[in-house]
Amino acid sequence: MTLTGQCRCSAVRYQLNTDVPPAIYACHCTDCQTWSGSAFALHALLPADALTLSGPLTTYAYELNGQHAEHQVCSVCHTRLCNTTTAAPGMKVLRAGTLDESRSLQPMAHIWVSHKQPWLTLPEGLPSWPQSPTPQAFGEALMAYAG
Ligand SMILES: [Zn+2]
Ligand SMILES: [Zn+2]
Repeated sequence: MTLTGQCRCSAVRYQLNTDVPPAIYACHCTDCQTWSGSAFALHALLPADALTLSGPLTTYAYELNGQHAEHQVCSVCHTRLCNTTTAAPGMKVLRAGTLDESRSLQPMAHIWVSHKQPWLTLPEGLPSWPQSPTPQAFGEALMAYAG
């Protein structure tokens, strides 16, 4: 399937080519709350070559815990669209709320729920972790979701 998305001003559009619906997860860490200006961030972890962006992009790069991250931002309206990190080589993390059909996709897991806003109640039965899961645990949850 091909999914599409865009930034707030439409200067940057992208295509996501994927065989299976993207696995979306919510991150409730305080960095994601600050960065999104909201209660949590919605992310989709994708093979890097699944995502094709077009339009004016600005890169914001930083180092954290010995890892190098690069975030791609619309140069016009500054919507953050995706990032790479050396912690997940070959992958891109898409801000899933920028998908045109974001309403049809539900989070399959919640991470950093120890920092979750107290008024927010999560659905029963979804995998969740108080902090970041190990790559192995998260991979197993993704596999279970993909069936
Ligand atoms: Zn824009
Ligand atoms: Zn986070």
